[in-house]
Amino acid sequence: MSAVLDQAVLPVYPRAGVTFVEGEGMWLVGDDGRRYLDFAAGIAVVGLGHRHPAPLAAAHEQLDRLWHASNLYWTEPMGELAARLSQRFGGAQAFFCNSGAEAIEAALKYARKATGKTGVLALEGSFHGRTLGALSATGQPSKRAAFEPLVPGVRFATANDVDSLRTAADDVGLILLEPVQGEGGVHPLTPAFAAAAAELAEELGALLCFDEVQTGIGRTGTFFAFQQLGVQPQLVTLAKALANGLPIGCLLVADDAAGGFAPGDHASTFGGNPVVCAAACAVCDAVDDALLASVRAAGERLAAGVAALPGVLEVRGRGLLLAAELDREAAPVVAACLDAGLLVLSAGERVLRLTPPLVVGPDHTDLALDTLREVLA
Ligand code: PLP
Repeated sequence: MSAVLDQAVLPVYPRAGVTFVEGEGMWLVGDDGRRYLDFAAGIAVVGLGHRHPAPLAAAHEQLDRLWHASNLYWTEPMGELAARLSQRFGGAQAFFCNSGAEAIEAALKYARKATGKTGVLALEGSFHGRTLGALSATGQPSKRAAFEPLVPGVRFATANDVDSLRTAADDVGLILLEPVQGEGGVHPLTPAFAAAAAELAEELGALLCFDEVQTGIGRTGTFFAFQQLGVQPQLVTLAKALANGLPIGCLLVADDAAGGFAPGDHASTFGGNPVVCAAACAVCDAVDDALLASVRAAGERLAAGVAALPGVLEVRGRGLLLAAELDREAAPVVAACLDAGLLVLSAGERVLRLTPPLVVGPDHTDLALDTLREVLA
């Protein structure tokens, strides 16, 4: 199958030669019937595990009732999802789109319109997506180089270096931060740095946005990762896990920063799709205190196990967004794990990333650690 597809699909991903046809909980099944233990969950997407009954039933039910109406009208699941997210945030308005990059685009436009300023302060090593605006705020020169010139006005500070925030100037209307840099190697921000960024945003009249596309919806052990930083932002972007694998993106705007957009300022044909929003409502309901507590416990157990593996120099992360800095290249380790029936990710040349579904149990963790131990030995 993959050999045939090779000819028909643009080669933007370095795809492994496996075609998945089914998923159930922590497991994926290939077209040859082989089962794989999933410690990637998409890339931190399938938070509740494959075919989780709650979003599955909600999506099925909505599919049978109504699967599209224009955003010129209201649909029930979109309103219900917005209300749930507002309640979790502590008072916010939602704009729905279809991906993380689109949520970032919405944040970039919102900040320009609300503050009247075009500058953006982002971080070196950050990742915010592949569209031109999101790429402009992505602090990874290798991803940007072939596509310059990008959107002007973005400056990059160094994560957790408070002094480097001073590279910001008066024209900055948006400070864009991942609470834990995911693609950049799983580097958590410190509360002190987040507090300094919030202070700077206030000083400059800028909006502070946490990009929670990867960290949001329970991945780090709290519903939003920013809840562990002690800082309340004006904007939050969400995507990946929000609908457990159906495509969705979301910009949340705090009630006290509302009023930036008026009708006609922004739009998305598919944004707020009823089937996807129905699934996302079920996801929000499932990510309750009990699940969040088990994410924290499972994260600690996995981190301790990984720290004891051969070739692991350091373990970083929060909750179930974890990385191991290796004494060797990560790509061959990822490939060897796949051969052994375990899906894991990399996040940089020597960084192995583990983002299992939040429902991972101790037996799954032990099985994954056994495979990793064999591969790294
Ligand atoms: N922001 C962060 C923090 C991400 O990790 C990603 C994707 O990995 C994105 C934005 C872009 O999301 P998408 O691939 O859905 O456009």
